[in-house]
Amino acid sequence: MSKLSENQIQRYAHQIILDEIGIKGQEKLLKAKVFILGIGGLGSPVLMYLASAGIGTLGIADFDKVELSNLQRQILFDTKSINKLKVEIAKKKINSINPNVKINIYKKKITNLNINKIIPEYDIVVDGSDNFETKYLINDACIKNKKILISASLNGFEAQIITFKPWIKSTNNPCYRCLFPENYKNTNTYNCREGGIIGGLAGTIGSLQSVEVIKEILNIGESLNGKLLIIDLLNGNLKKLKVKRNKKCLNYCKFLIKD
Ligand SMILES: [Zn+2]
Repeated sequence: MSKLSENQIQRYAHQIILDEIGIKGQEKLLKAKVFILGIGGLGSPVLMYLASAGIGTLGIADFDKVELSNLQRQILFDTKSINKLKVEIAKKKINSINPNVKINIYKKKITNLNINKIIPEYDIVVDGSDNFETKYLINDACIKNKKILISASLNGFEAQIITFKPWIKSTNNPCYRCLFPENYKNTNTYNCREGGIIGGLAGTIGSLQSVEVIKEILNIGESLNGKLLIIDLLNGNLKKLKVKRNKKCLNYCKFLIKD
C-alpha cells in the first residue's frame, strides 16, 4: 500500500509515472535530506527543483544578502528581495512552491568549526559555492562524513559538474582536491565572483545538479561519480571525462576517510 496521499500522487504525477521513479521512488524522495551550500546562481534552481520534486528535508546555508547584481542569474530572488537575507527569502519562496518540504536555514558562514555538525544530518550535499576555499571545505567534510557531493563550477559560458564519493574503497574515484589541487586555484578562473557568467548557464547546471541528486537518492542511471561533465554553451559542446584519484592527493583523501 502506498503511503502517499491523493494530493501527493497528483503533485508528483509526472515523475511517479516514470519507470525509474514510481511510487516507491517518490517515497524515497520524500524521506531524503539534502544540504545545499550557497543559494546563488546554482543554489536557486537546485533548491526550486528539489523542493518541487518533493525532497523531504532541504538544508540551505548562505550568510549573504541579496544584491542587485545577483538578480541576473539567481532566479529565486526579485527586486523586492534586495538587502534581505537570501536564506529567508528562499525559505518563503520554497514554502509557497511546496509547503510539504521541511526547510532548515543556516544564516552563519559555514566554516570548519560548524560544517561537521551540520552535514551528518543530511544524505547528500550540493555545492552551490563560488569560491575554492568553500569547495575545499565542503570536499573535506563530505569525505569525513561519507556524504555524496554533487559539485559544479561555472565560468563565462562554460561549466563543469561532477559527483564525488571517494570514500567508497573499492573504487579509484577522486575527491575535489584530486581534480583541483590547491595550486590549481591560482591558474584558473572557475570562480564567478571574479569572472563573468551568463545567467542561463547557472540555471542549466543547477538543474543538472538537481537531477544528479535525485539519481543518487534513487540509485538510478549512471552516476557522475568520477566523471567530469564539461559543458560549453557558447559552442554547444558537451564532453564527459573519466577522472581518477590523484596520487599526489591520495595521502590527503585517504587520511580523511575514517572507518
Ligand atoms: Zn583526493
